[in-house]
This record gives sequence, structure tokens and C-alpha cells, in this order.
Amino acid sequence: MNSNDCIFCKIVSGDIPSQRVYEDADTIAFLDIRPVNVGHTLVIPKAHFANMLETPAEVLHALTDVSKKIAPGILKAVGSDAMNWSTNNGRAAGQLVFHMHFHLIPRFPADGHKMWQGSDEHQDFAALAKKIREELGS
Ligand code: AMP
Ligand code: ZN
Repeated sequence: MNSNDCIFCKIVSGDIPSQRVYEDADTIAFLDIRPVNVGHTLVIPKAHFANMLETPAEVLHALTDVSKKIAPGILKAVGSDAMNWSTNNGRAAGQLVFHMHFHLIPRFPADGHKMWQGSDEHQDFAALAKKIREELGS
């Protein structure tokens, strides 16, 4: 499965160059072209899926295995001992490239990147949890 107008499919096929750090039969990992920090790496399936919600579980398992395998080497190469591992799903969540990818972002003390702020605003958590459980049938 491959999408003609997908930039990451073009990276998989080699039509667009990338700095690959890892490759196997189903997965590649390459350096992000606009890194948040040095060593920022993207881990993607070779097959095209728009995002995590559309990616089969076994493909996500493989991406997770690769991420876990390569993360220590990436961190060692850039002298970091901390990392954010994330994925954006959908435009409102900041997804720009609609081919499933994990971000592996090495972090450094005082690198200036702020985490999201939690809200102290009162919410009816019990009602919300109930609604979600009902959606999940659990
Ligand atoms: P997202 O916002 O989660 O969809 O992230 C897409 C990421 O892909 C961004 O961090 C971009 O910098 C990165 N990116 C876009 N084009 C390329 C490319 N040709 N090579 C490497 N990374 C890219
Ligand atoms: Zn693609």
C-alpha cells in the first residue's frame, strides 16, 4: 500500500532523500528535516496509513519495537538521557504529514521546550468517565 502524493511514501521509495538511521522489511527511521532537538528521528511503517487510529495494531507493535530498539543509540549519539516519544493524530493535534509516524525527540536539561499545561478547572470527571465507558461498552 502506497500513496502517490505522500511525502513519506516517497521517502520509503527513495524518490525523496532522507538520512536513514534504521531500516528493516516493514519499517524505516530517519532524521526529521526540521528537528525540535538534535537527533529528532521519525519512525514510520513502509506501508501507508494516515495516522495511528488507522494503523493496524501489529504495525504499531512493530513501530514500537523498532522505536525501543533504536532509541538508546540515538540518545547516546547526541549525548542525551531523556526523550519524548509522541505521535500527532489529525490536523487539530498538529499532524502535518498524513503517514503514520512516531517522533523520537531527545531532550536536554533546560532546552526550552515546555510541556502542555494541565487545567485546574473543575470538570465532572465521573460523568465523563461514564460516557467514555459507555462508548467503549465497558
Ligand atoms: P507531524 O506534524 O507529526 O505530521 O510531523 C511531521 C514531521 O515531518 C515534521 O516534524 C517535519 O519536520 C517532518 N518532515 C517533513 N518533511 C520531511 C522530510 N522530507 N524529511 C524529514 N522530515 C520531514
Ligand atoms: Zn505515505
